[in-house]
Amino acid sequence: MAVPCPGCGRQYDVTLFEFGRTLWCTCGSRVGREVRARRLEGAGSTRFIADAMLGRLARWLRLLGFDCAWEAHIPDERLVRRGVEEARRILTRDRALADEWRVSEIHLVQAEKVRDQLVEVLRRFDLARDILILTRCSECNEPLAPLPAALAAERVPERVLERERRFSACPTCRRVYWEGTHTDRIRRFVDGIVADASAAAG
Ligand SMILES: [Zn+2]
Ligand SMILES: [Zn+2]
Repeated sequence: MAVPCPGCGRQYDVTLFEFGRTLWCTCGSRVGREVRARRLEGAGSTRFIADAMLGRLARWLRLLGFDCAWEAHIPDERLVRRGVEEARRILTRDRALADEWRVSEIHLVQAEKVRDQLVEVLRRFDLARDILILTRCSECNEPLAPLPAALAAERVPERVLERERRFSACPTCRRVYWEGTHTDRIRRFVDGIVADASAAAG
């Protein structure tokens, strides 16, 4: 199978355009074909992968319960391939990425501050109603599992044990999470963001 250059009609082999890669033809036109990721529908369908510049955004999305993969120093090719193969929307600050790869799910993040980035993403993908804080590890992106208080005893400070009854833990890094002043702050932060995301949408 061949892909024609839109400028001169020269035929290129389809394997050159894997995962939406594009190339410049000698005539000066960009050649490519649109790739669509396998789309997941329904609950949990909004999965992301963030580029290396968006580590803080990735961590915040996880804190809000969203699946957001992130790797430091990830090459563009791997970022795009994971997006396509794992049906993740690609979040990037890199305008060139969206030009060089024709993948339908690339979202160019405009905002510079992480709070504004969150508002932008929540609004763009209409996620405000799906926020579930304390459900996913902010470090590993793993869903948290309930942790009985008896088992939490050896892993959290005593003052927390006296006050809290409900704990959850990350199965990967074993970090323990619980309700408390930290989550109150997160909830207030999230309330503000959701209000902004909704206001701007109307
Ligand atoms: Zn050409
Ligand atoms: Zn973890």
